[in-house]
Amino acid sequence: MDNYITLCKPTLSKALLSIGLDKKYFKASGNYLYYRNSQGEEVEVLDLLGGYGATLIGHFHPQIGSRYKDYIEQKVPFHNQFSIREGAGELSTLLNSRLCHETNYRDGFQFCYTSTGAETMEIALKHAEYARSLELNAMQQQLKADYDSLNPQYSYHLLPQQERLLGVSRLASSHVIKQALVRYNTEQFNKHPIFIALENAFHGKMMLTANCTHHPMYRAFLRCLNIETRFLSAHVVNEIVHNIEHHGLWGEALQPEVIDGVIHLKPLIIRRVVAILAEPVQGEGGVWPLNATVAEDLNKLRDSLHCPLIADEVQSGSGRCGMLVAASNIGLNADYYALSKALGAGYVKIGVVAIKKSHIASGFDLIQSSTFGEDDLSCKVARDYLELLFNGDDPLIKRVGKISEQLGKILDQLKNRFPDVIKDVRYQGLLLGIEFNDVAESSSYLMQNIAAQRSLGYIIAGHLLNAYNIRVAPSGSSENVLRFEPSVYLEQRHISLLQRGLERICLGIRYADVGFLLRP
Ligand code: PMP
Repeated sequence: MDNYITLCKPTLSKALLSIGLDKKYFKASGNYLYYRNSQGEEVEVLDLLGGYGATLIGHFHPQIGSRYKDYIEQKVPFHNQFSIREGAGELSTLLNSRLCHETNYRDGFQFCYTSTGAETMEIALKHAEYARSLELNAMQQQLKADYDSLNPQYSYHLLPQQERLLGVSRLASSHVIKQALVRYNTEQFNKHPIFIALENAFHGKMMLTANCTHHPMYRAFLRCLNIETRFLSAHVVNEIVHNIEHHGLWGEALQPEVIDGVIHLKPLIIRRVVAILAEPVQGEGGVWPLNATVAEDLNKLRDSLHCPLIADEVQSGSGRCGMLVAASNIGLNADYYALSKALGAGYVKIGVVAIKKSHIASGFDLIQSSTFGEDDLSCKVARDYLELLFNGDDPLIKRVGKISEQLGKILDQLKNRFPDVIKDVRYQGLLLGIEFNDVAESSSYLMQNIAAQRSLGYIIAGHLLNAYNIRVAPSGSSENVLRFEPSVYLEQRHISLLQRGLERICLGIRYADVGFLLRP
């Protein structure tokens, strides 16, 4: 038995084994990964999974590699915490100018570095809650000053609804009413916060980010933590903006105000929504690019709730959709941008939250750091990557649109040829997906069984790997969607190979030929 199977992923490994995805890749280069078959021969596999979006320039890009070697030879520090870190400074300068340019935001960003996508989103949410807590503290201090300045001789004028809320009668003494008021307001401030995410969202698998990930598999077991996330369908955002007061998205304290020697209580809105999270292109949820209308609705929802809008660009950003941030393609005017994956150029683990300067909560950089965040080596590699992608007379980023068009055209043609098999084709840049029709209603009992096990996408992935040496995977939360995240160096012959493979698979599904689909 292999140690990985026994010591790391016993359950997952069984699933990989059953659909022929149990390969051991020993080498990666450009568009390819390599494993050895049972005869010990090297097999070259076209990698369209791309580290789920991380290898936009392929594996071990030579130009980045030679810089990387230089850094190692120069002994560029990796562990130089608690110092003025040159690499993070240089990378931030580049990210700042690119982000300002793409988002048309002139005041600049501040950057917080991490190592993974989920960590990046976790830190974005942590900063948002930190900022909210500072806001609430300031309000509570103001209220305390208001209570303290009240003349004990003044009486209260309470509305009937306020009597009910405070649980006091209007005949109660000022002292008793004030005690009830302080207690009531404290309860309002202590109400748990709310996160807003979209249906089909995927934001990572840490406690907070898993709670903001839509698929119940990733979060149902966390329910006792009582972290409230509201998942909105993209179509209802506009409706919510117009009826915001009916959705219980804020708390209300009562603020004393003296008018002609009588204390009145006026409502004081307390923000409960920490942040709105949105992926400009939902990757794991089934490749759903948001459109400009939904982006505008989200901008308005943010304005109504006075909370930050976080663009999770972990998968869609860093060039994958043709820009540093895909939000720019649709006018999503986010306050925070989370980047990771491709930013590491396939060499290093890096993530970063870029926060508009106007949204920075002071002191956060004192309470947030990590052992690996901001290391010079990763930051320098990411800087080289951005220069390779965006600089020069003929920048590499142009290839994203070109290849997207070529590959997208082939997928669209397949959809037109096999409408009984393919439900939809969706893409933006080099994040593409085919949604297959559910086979639950198939006349074949075996096909029905595949549907019941939600394994159609995995069986297709197994067939493409074993019959065509093409590596793909269904998206994380939507198993009928096959996702493609190729590198910018994908060639026409690769596209043709994929086309042949998908045509055969569509025929196999059309004629419910399960034997064919399962046979390499
Ligand atoms: N956000 C999005 C949009 C993602 O697609 C992912 C990973 N697929 C994450 C966050 C989490 O990233 P990681 O796997 O690096 O933790």
